[in-house]
Amino acid sequence: MIQTDKKINLKGLTLPELQEYFVSIGEPKFRGEQIFNWMYNHLSFDFSEMQNVSKELRQKLSAVCSLQTLSLTATQDSPTTATKKYLFATHDNKKIESVVIPEKDRNTLCISTQVGCPLDCKFCATGLMGYKRNLTPGEVVDQYLLTAKEYGKENITNIVYMGMGEPLLNYETTIKSAEIFTHELTKGLSRTRITVSTAGIAPKIRELADHGLRVKLAFSLHSAFEDIRNKIMPINKKYSLKENTEALKYYAKKTKTRITFEYTMLKGLNDRDEDVKALTKLCSSLPSKINVIPFNSIKHMNPGGISAHLEPTSHENIHQFADKLRNNNITVMIRQTQGDDIAAACGQLAVKSL
Ligand code: SAH
Repeated sequence: MIQTDKKINLKGLTLPELQEYFVSIGEPKFRGEQIFNWMYNHLSFDFSEMQNVSKELRQKLSAVCSLQTLSLTATQDSPTTATKKYLFATHDNKKIESVVIPEKDRNTLCISTQVGCPLDCKFCATGLMGYKRNLTPGEVVDQYLLTAKEYGKENITNIVYMGMGEPLLNYETTIKSAEIFTHELTKGLSRTRITVSTAGIAPKIRELADHGLRVKLAFSLHSAFEDIRNKIMPINKKYSLKENTEALKYYAKKTKTRITFEYTMLKGLNDRDEDVKALTKLCSSLPSKINVIPFNSIKHMNPGGISAHLEPTSHENIHQFADKLRNNNITVMIRQTQGDDIAAACGQLAVKSL
């Protein structure tokens, strides 16, 4: 059971925040480092296990602090691939999902940053379920910690912020969680193994560049034309592709990283020769590569409007499209669809009972 009392939740606090907390209760600063290490490195969520902390303090902490944010309520294995979906409940009984996607040389954990999503992208199931609230840093970190406990910490090699929600609209939480994942004391993941994905919140892309985390950035492009983006991604009306492209150039330059453009292939909408041309021009203007993603059906959501008419580009045409880009010297990866049989693939995360 998740505690609903007024205890202070330490999970999700960064190292400086933990140090500050211990100083505030009259304890030495190094206690912050100890608890940080127990939670995020040893995956210990029970004060009684923390042997280098005095018994007295452990009892005191148990009385006033909590280490629980999410409960793992169910897991689901894909019968056809090794993809595994984790369903979590929050203290206010919201449901969120994370997915582990095993590949040849890595296992990627895909985490959520919001309950639902406010962006309403027309091809995405999460958008169709609406938006409830931001997740807290503890709830984002816990998706990793609880999954790592089940799956083996050493077996999770990469984290992508590509689950439910828009990470850059929950900016502080995204930063704090990524700081925890990449902190040397957690013996976790290097910054090059963390990817934040955004639909395009230009000012926040710049802020992230200035922050110095230098994680990888993926940009959900889906069309190199403003009018098509306006149609399928309403956020483009607020932050245009032009404004985002300038922000992405800034990010690439400041962090010395390459931007990944995500490009979900929609029949007749973004798979034409003029799209190859526009995409080539855009990609040539900054250090980047393209991840082409087969469109995963969202029919299980019974969508209306334009969403009801979206169709996937055929497998053959996806390959032809990628080859045309490669002929123009663009780096292109075709992402294999994984987990669509358990509605765990890109854009399929949506929990029915919010
Ligand atoms: N809000 C963030 C992260 C979540 S989506 C973002 O927009 O980047 C993760 C990726 O899956 C995005 O590139 C998104 O556009 C893509 N996606 C969404 N729905 C999809 C679908 N039905 N099929 C394939 N990819 C989809």
